[in-house]
Amino acid sequence: MVYETGNETVDDALERVLAGERLDRTDGLALMAQPVSPLAEAGAVVRDRFGDGTVDACSIVNAKAGNCAEDCGFCAQSVHFDTGIDTYGFLGPEKILEAAKRAERDGAQRFGIVVAEKGVSKERRPEEWADVLESIRLVREECDLEVDASLGILTKEEATILAAEGINHYNHNIETSPRYFPEIVGTHSFEDRVKTLDVAKAAGMDLCAGVILGMGETPVDRVEAAVALQDIGVSSLPVNVLNPVEGTPLAEQRTEITTEEIVKTVAVYKLLHPDARVRLTGGREANLPSAEQHLPLEAGADGILTGDYLTTDGQSPGEDLEIIERAGLVPNMEANEFDPAAVKARNDGTEQSPTDTVASTGAESSDD
Ligand code: SF4
Repeated sequence: MVYETGNETVDDALERVLAGERLDRTDGLALMAQPVSPLAEAGAVVRDRFGDGTVDACSIVNAKAGNCAEDCGFCAQSVHFDTGIDTYGFLGPEKILEAAKRAERDGAQRFGIVVAEKGVSKERRPEEWADVLESIRLVREECDLEVDASLGILTKEEATILAAEGINHYNHNIETSPRYFPEIVGTHSFEDRVKTLDVAKAAGMDLCAGVILGMGETPVDRVEAAVALQDIGVSSLPVNVLNPVEGTPLAEQRTEITTEEIVKTVAVYKLLHPDARVRLTGGREANLPSAEQHLPLEAGADGILTGDYLTTDGQSPGEDLEIIERAGLVPNMEANEFDPAAVKARNDGTEQSPTDTVASTGAESSDD
């Protein structure tokens, strides 16, 4: 795509970002009303100025699936909805290590251990907690990967332990704006989520927290979510797009989201978060035609979730590399060097993922 420039609102905002100013809600709303083309151009300029010129790939393992007591309206893993997914208990350190090795070979720089529930509890389930710690240690010992975790709500003690174990990013998505959150989740509050992020940050972990687009939120909600994330202070900002799961409330109320809306949101997020990696995550393959998947990367995104999602298959890591190249960018190789040609050569899909033996068939849009 060839982008236009010369839009006063966008040019003014860009100049201020480049001068080190933090944009606010008013700026975000004004930007969201601008055409996609200058926004995308500005997002790319910000990425090039503040980033290292690479696209960072992370990969996740769904370490414990289903039966979650929470009622997040988009989620295949909630016990409240009949989605027919396979459920299983904590995979155990060896299986998680297998998944991490695969992720490393496929070019991921960070590996997230994700558990589906409100919170892995050291007090209530000490054996599972010990397994989580053992898994973190194994992956850190055996792989050249940054290890991240998404274990739900944390106590201060748990956060301190995870930070001491070397967890790099703690993931806990805010999903949407504070205003719209209660429309999506009834069993816990937006503030509960922010509290855990605060606890994780205070313990020394970097934060990965983001949103799901296409849940019926307005453009104002999208801006307000980004502003909330500014206050929280994230260094990785996942942008999921709803991939509706049959049986969940949001499958019924789905609102269409266009490529232009996705690209615009990514660009505005980059302008509001120049120092964070804006990361394309769940639902991108389901919502963007293959020939358009590189457009958010051209508009300032500089991260990607590669490989399979929590309950759905992603496209192959080789295809993700091709999309990065199509956007004129290069993959990050800071944590481990890999051979892009070899990753692409595995595109035929004949090799089985270590998590295929436990992967379920539902669809979902977000890591937790
Ligand atoms: S998003 Fe997380 S907390 Fe919400 S239902 Fe799914 S697994 Fe549970």
